[in-house]
Amino acid sequence: MHPVYDVIGIGFGPANIALAIAMEEKGLYPNSLFLEKAANPVWQGEMLFEISLDTYSNIQNIPFRDLVTPRNPRSRYTFLNYLHENGLFFEHLNMDMLMPMRPDYARYIAWVVDLLRERLRTSCDVQHIERWPQAEGPDLYRVSCADGSVYHARHLVLGTGRSPRLPELFSGLHSERVFHQSRYNTALANLQRHAPKRIAVVGSSQSAVEIIMHLSKTLPDTQIHSIIRRYAYPLKDTSPFMSEIFFPTFTDAYYNADQATKARIDADAFRTNYGACDMDILEELYKQMYYDKLHGRQQIHLHRLTDIQSVNVDEQGVDLRLFDQMTQLPSDVRFDAVVLATGFTNLGQDGQQSLPLLHDLEASLQRSATGAMQIGRDYRVRLNAPTEQGAVVLNGLCESSHGMGDGGSLSLVSLRADSILAGLQAHDQLAHSAPAPLQEVALDA
Ligand SMILES: Cc1cc2nc3c(=O)[nH]c(=O)nc-3n(C[C@H](O)[C@H](O)[C@H](O)COP(=O)(O)OP(=O)(O)OC[C@H]3O[C@@H](n4cnc5c(N)ncnc54)[C@H](O)[C@@H]3O)c2cc1C
Repeated sequence: MHPVYDVIGIGFGPANIALAIAMEEKGLYPNSLFLEKAANPVWQGEMLFEISLDTYSNIQNIPFRDLVTPRNPRSRYTFLNYLHENGLFFEHLNMDMLMPMRPDYARYIAWVVDLLRERLRTSCDVQHIERWPQAEGPDLYRVSCADGSVYHARHLVLGTGRSPRLPELFSGLHSERVFHQSRYNTALANLQRHAPKRIAVVGSSQSAVEIIMHLSKTLPDTQIHSIIRRYAYPLKDTSPFMSEIFFPTFTDAYYNADQATKARIDADAFRTNYGACDMDILEELYKQMYYDKLHGRQQIHLHRLTDIQSVNVDEQGVDLRLFDQMTQLPSDVRFDAVVLATGFTNLGQDGQQSLPLLHDLEASLQRSATGAMQIGRDYRVRLNAPTEQGAVVLNGLCESSHGMGDGGSLSLVSLRADSILAGLQAHDQLAHSAPAPLQEVALDA
């Protein structure tokens, strides 16, 4: 026989970690399990650098908006308590640093993960979810992992993070030579074996600039070509008024707004979180290019207003045809590798109407006239017959419905955990009249 969990969380990044904390602190759903595909989860580990860049690459979030503080400032899982318990408190205050260093924050998250190990199974790459009918009571969900292990639960919470956004020209071309920022550290380690002479970095976001800086320090003999469609790297909008999109009240207002209003807000707020860079890293890059010029050399090449017209990949490299809008001239350049620092996509955008993991549940999902999945304010996916099955919840994947403060940001993970737990409880109340589900199922049922 196999245990039936009340909740299975898929993915153990900040979103589901915050949920696990809330469950523990509120004494709710103690019979829960989180499945994480990494053997040792590290927060955005593919973009965590090991050289000096780390010391000036700080996170973009005030640490009071950590995994728990906005929901429960007295929690043992706060960033402040991490500093305290790890002997870092006084030195950290001495740095007068509002936003912590990225590796410091990654260590904070790893420290929390270690405290929650009891609820976590690592190296579980979830491949498949299906409805698992019961003779009596609501159906269960069966979750299958790449290693062949299976788990059963009443409710599911998907916290798998957002999917890479890949320019259409590059679709199907992923290889050791063409890779997205979400594989940066792994792919770079492979690439270093080939002593690359020329690398292209596509995109003008914070990550693009960080990658350019990192490449220039890690591979000092490699020429780095930054290919951007804009005239220059845009500056992030950090206005306190615009930053109110990271308030919980904004989530309520946005969720209830019509599509036209949502589009209007998104256009305004875009540069708070996307396709834009912090001033400190832009100044650093500018100084680096100036310093090189001063010494009669050039390592970083900026291709402004440049479109990529064609891509050809072979085992030794990548040919790009570039088109310079300013001069109206094309050029053909061969690179050893191309890094796509092109960001991430949200459910409901770029034609992404559902998640691959929900494929087998398609028949249960309510959809709008345009085919969009329907998501409640409490992040529950709207199901056709909710009392016949447990809840399916999306944690950190609802930017299109809940707004920019809610998706690709750490700001609201703690309060979102509260909404999710309230939603699960509401679902249980609704299903209350149905017979209770089994506590165990046969493995081959
Ligand atoms: C480089 C980078 C830097 C960022 N910096 C900031 C910042 O400074 N401030 C900020 O507010 N936001 C930042 N963000 C936004 C980021 O989205 C959030 O910080 C946060 O990581 C989102 O948490 P999450 O749990 O939703 O997703 P993720 O952190 O992506 O975690 C998802 C987890 O699910 C696991 N997983 C995925 N699929 C499966 C599966 N099938 N089976 C099992 N496990 C699976 C993954 O291994 C991962 O551990 C940054 C994003 C990036 C890419």
